[in-house]
Amino acid sequence: MNLKREWDNLFISLFLYIFVSELRNKLLTKKTYKIMTLTIDYIRGSFIKYNVLYFNNLLKMPNFKITHSKRRLGTLSIKRRANFAFGGYIKEHTISVSDYYDRTEKQYDNTIIHEMIHLYISQNDIIDNGSHGRRFKAECARINKYGWELSRCTDTSGWKLSEYAQKKQNIKKAKASYNVIIYKESGNSQFIFRVSKPNVKMYMDYLRNSCNFECKHFITNDSNFESLPNCTKRIRGRRIYYNDTNNIYSKYMI
Ligand SMILES: [Zn+2]
Repeated sequence: MNLKREWDNLFISLFLYIFVSELRNKLLTKKTYKIMTLTIDYIRGSFIKYNVLYFNNLLKMPNFKITHSKRRLGTLSIKRRANFAFGGYIKEHTISVSDYYDRTEKQYDNTIIHEMIHLYISQNDIIDNGSHGRRFKAECARINKYGWELSRCTDTSGWKLSEYAQKKQNIKKAKASYNVIIYKESGNSQFIFRVSKPNVKMYMDYLRNSCNFECKHFITNDSNFESLPNCTKRIRGRRIYYNDTNNIYSKYMI
């Protein structure tokens, strides 16, 4: 039995040695990165790889999740569950990575390692002065020596939306319908704004009956109207000129 275990250990060590040196070579030689489709397997694979390379394989495997968040490229969520057997609590960690933008492997890995630093801090109960505090920054600096660009946040300006996000946006645009109201004040100035569908009647009644203003309502999916103020609590119309109003009426009203 012991002999078998020895063999097993030897085999595992050998395997890890080959695995790590292969990865080192790959990381050192790989210079071009292609846009890729994010999968849970990919996140897990990166986690295993960088756990060995940068964390002495000491991080415990968290859960992984893919989100479609625009603002948060990655997050580490920590759930605390009571530990009935030993008292205190158990932390359950989840690393989420967003596929909102088209990203290269390197850009994804940058996010994954960023979250792994949060994980390292949480799993070791390290006290830091802020969520991206001194300890966090020190870890970034340590790993950035290997060619990463870890920082507190990533500038996404100029990044292309992923196919998923583009599709979602197109569906949103196609489905969009804008309820537009134009009204004429007693001084003959005209204003235009949009409201959500359930509020149309309330606004029309208010303008007609309480203010005695002339008003018209129409529905359109023309995205030109998207930039109009969308009123929820009070009217903030945009001034509109007589000619424009007539053009709009002839184009959008039956
Ligand atoms: Zn962070």
